[in-house]
Amino acid sequence: MGKYGWIGLVAMAAACGRGGDKATGDERAAVPAAASDAVTGEQLLADIKVLADDSLLGRGPGTLGEERTVAFLEAQFKALGLEPGNPDGSYRQNVPLVGITPDPRAELVVSKGGVSRTLKFKDDVVAWTKHVADSAAIAGSEMVFVGYGVEAPEFEWDDFKGLDVKGKTMVVLVNDPPLTDTTQFGGKAMTYYGRWTYKYEQGQKHGAAAVLIVHETEPAGYPFAVVQGKTGEQFDLVTPDKNLTRSPIEGWITLEQAEALFRLAGQDFGQLKAKAATRDFAPVPLGLSASMTIRNRLRTVDSRNVVAKLIGSDPALKDEYIVYTAHWDHFGVGDPVNGDSIYNGALDNASGTASLLALARGFKALPEPPKRSILFLAVTAEEQGLLGSQYYSVTPLYPLAKTAANINIDGLNLIGRTKDVTVIGMGASALDDYIRDAAQLQGRTIRPDPEPEKGYYYRSDHFNFAKQGVPALYAESGIEVVGQPADYGIKMRQQYVADDYHKPSDDVKANWVLDGAVEDIRLYLTVGYWLAQAGAFPEWRPGNEFKAIRDRQLGR
Ligand SMILES: [Zn+2]
Repeated sequence: MGKYGWIGLVAMAAACGRGGDKATGDERAAVPAAASDAVTGEQLLADIKVLADDSLLGRGPGTLGEERTVAFLEAQFKALGLEPGNPDGSYRQNVPLVGITPDPRAELVVSKGGVSRTLKFKDDVVAWTKHVADSAAIAGSEMVFVGYGVEAPEFEWDDFKGLDVKGKTMVVLVNDPPLTDTTQFGGKAMTYYGRWTYKYEQGQKHGAAAVLIVHETEPAGYPFAVVQGKTGEQFDLVTPDKNLTRSPIEGWITLEQAEALFRLAGQDFGQLKAKAATRDFAPVPLGLSASMTIRNRLRTVDSRNVVAKLIGSDPALKDEYIVYTAHWDHFGVGDPVNGDSIYNGALDNASGTASLLALARGFKALPEPPKRSILFLAVTAEEQGLLGSQYYSVTPLYPLAKTAANINIDGLNLIGRTKDVTVIGMGASALDDYIRDAAQLQGRTIRPDPEPEKGYYYRSDHFNFAKQGVPALYAESGIEVVGQPADYGIKMRQQYVADDYHKPSDDVKANWVLDGAVEDIRLYLTVGYWLAQAGAFPEWRPGNEFKAIRDRQLGR
């Protein structure tokens, strides 16, 4: 997992028993017992132990640890009797990665007439190029303030108002426009328009030379120090165009520097920011020009997604897919902490990866395969920016228009059964109904993410499916642990985040309790089974930012 999703649960949203439509479709019976029973704690633990063993060297992409991880998963899928998931007859999908390290001597020079201001790399500006090239530069590029840089037809919002920013440097605000009208931009919840990655995609779409986001701690959700963590080697996919259609330079500047630059431009940052929160906002040319050169050190890495498939039993539906994902990668071998340098990632995400094997066992134990086909996709390089799932989503092995849904697992509950299930991004799609009904069969309830403003829905592998239009489900275990004090779930989670999250100590623990994990996997099994049996594909809710993409994809 690439986030601290659980911390916010301290806020403790009330359990949510969303009313409304019973999930569509007619086949809402429990999964045949043979399938549920095939998911066992013993087997799950055994698989996690293999995946989190020191011999797998922390499962770093492009390392010997990857070779071993991929070999293990492939052997397991084969032994379970699943078909190779790649139509080329293999269980692998190659994912070409590049590691790009910018030279920290870069600086951003902004001038107006004879006056110029130099922003220091890391202190004042964190910038990079995703071009797979030795260097990228902007020279005398005209700077334009484009507000939030949002074009959202469903909210009748357009920050560009037809202005051509080709070759220019976009200065842009982070997060969604902060409107008091809660029917817009998801209210308190962050929409994809608020994510920093969206801002750079807007730069690419408009042919901008550079995109500089003004960092503000509150709307970003983290301090500038987190941005400064991006000054070392960053991984990306090697696209056929070597990312050359992206803006040559992408980055962040500090709020202080933005304020100073706006002053240099004879503008007031606060005033323009306030204007940007209105529909009438139009881009403001700043009369400043920006120059910067970034030199790169490049390293290519060949990594892999591992993929297996269970072919559906209905001739009319077997070309349609339910895709389960979990990232197999973690951080490999790195800086030692307390003498341990192997980042085993037992919870994050050996547990999710082992879940794919458990689900495969469950589906194989059905009296007959489900009607639609099931894909088990263990993706690489999640910890490097959701890259393996991104690669699959733009280079899918089966058409996305034939992909009914994605269900992603990133970290299991290892502290015991819970009365509830947290659905991240609840309200996005009809998948809510599926998981609500499946939870109900277990005597459990679903609850929403208590911190929707942090945009967690956009931070694990399911998001790449959503972004390409495929409804995607990401749930986390609940917090009300059966037979424990009310605050137990939160406390155990906080302990994990403080002690083990992204540290070498994320190991298999003697005190793990697996029955909650087993119950959660059975829940995902039920949801996937229903999806594989149901007549219609699940839909995005009206107003969701991915609905239009799906509608186009399905030719509507
Ligand atoms: Zn992680």
